[in-house]
Amino acid sequence: MDTQKLALFGGPKTIQIEFKRYNPLGHEEVQAAKEVIESGVLSQFLGVWHADFYGGPKVQEFERQCAKYFGVKHAVTVNSWTSGLIAAVGAIGIEPGDEVIVTPWTMSASATAILHWNAIPVFADIDPETFNLCPKSVEANITPYTKAIMVVDIFGQSADMDELMAIAEKHGLKVISDTAQAPGALYKGKHAGTLAHVGGYSLNYHKHIHTGEGGIIVTNDDGIAERLQLIRNHAEVVVGDKGVTNLSNMIGHNFRLGEIECAMGIEQLKKLGDFVESRQILANRLTEGLKGLRGLRTPVVKADRTHVYYVYPLILDLEELDVSRDHIHTALQAEGVTVSKRYQNIHLLPMYQKKQAYGSNGFPWTSDICHRDVSYSKGICPVAEELNDSTYIGFGMCVYDLTDKDVDLIVTAFHKVWANLDVLKLNGSVANKV
Ligand SMILES: *Cc1c(COP(=O)(O)O)cnc(C)c1O
Repeated sequence: MDTQKLALFGGPKTIQIEFKRYNPLGHEEVQAAKEVIESGVLSQFLGVWHADFYGGPKVQEFERQCAKYFGVKHAVTVNSWTSGLIAAVGAIGIEPGDEVIVTPWTMSASATAILHWNAIPVFADIDPETFNLCPKSVEANITPYTKAIMVVDIFGQSADMDELMAIAEKHGLKVISDTAQAPGALYKGKHAGTLAHVGGYSLNYHKHIHTGEGGIIVTNDDGIAERLQLIRNHAEVVVGDKGVTNLSNMIGHNFRLGEIECAMGIEQLKKLGDFVESRQILANRLTEGLKGLRGLRTPVVKADRTHVYYVYPLILDLEELDVSRDHIHTALQAEGVTVSKRYQNIHLLPMYQKKQAYGSNGFPWTSDICHRDVSYSKGICPVAEELNDSTYIGFGMCVYDLTDKDVDLIVTAFHKVWANLDVLKLNGSVANKV
């Protein structure tokens, strides 16, 4: 058999094994969870003004450890990072109808957290190299109604925080950092997520460290921290007895994380540095192996920051390749490389296209609280749209526990596909049908 023949056209498949799934949990987490279960106290929160308003011993210990690790004054745990984002938008005092600038190249919750408070998401475009919010586009989208910027550290690398914070300061805006995918990433020596007014991390099953579900909010602002704790835990009942007079957004929820999750989180946090480092080593090996393949751009990591590779992003130069992304994607998949094409263009989701969120009459966009007609049309974020439509492919680095040999197999598969680009081009119609 011709070993160089693409698997797509009947040749041998490069990767015949299943890569081991990433599992960050070990004996320590099992032991920690077991101790909590045996204590019988799985959550010690009380939704009233009482010592237990702040949760039980594991919640408080995990929060202390997180604050120390990330180098912030306050860490507030929540039952998901989606809850964390909602709490953060409420805590910074967003009012109905306020505009918050957000990236379309993110998980949907970055924007729905804004809508949750009946505020209006406004999508700015992204930087074509880092995929994070483009400061120029952010500035171009500021109106008299803009109150905040939702920055996302996508795929594992911090956004341009100095530039974005300078814009925020100039216009009197608050900044939230959605660092769900980048715990442990550094920006000028500081932890990503800690450079905004409020930020944080996801602890869901897919992320670098996890407790099943969960989230950690971080801030250096005492007032924001108090409001986060109130929104997490039935604010409306607590404010009176606690003596809180600013009642704006003091609608509380139950966003409380349990004792088991926090006990596991304490152990997970100790391992974060090692997990991140092992992914960086694998990603560097992959980059080394893919270097020199024409028309393929490996991840761009800015000199003043580190990348923790939740996703390993690649960009195709279609002019140079003269083969479509679909063909390359199909050929790589057939070789056993589970790359994804596309990521997210959340401004194009039906909810934004139809402007229908709360109820069926277009609230909040059709209501008086909305100051202007905000556009979600295709074309408002050309960089993010082009990436999604034609040039981006990504590899979920955090899905697997890869070995060096696994990475080398991935590299071999890419080289094989690249050696066959002319065949792929000629037989494109076949590739299309697969
Ligand atoms: C995972 C993720 C979230 C949501 O986190 P959950 O803990 O699953 O609620 C938000 N934003 C981004 C960028 C994410 O990757």
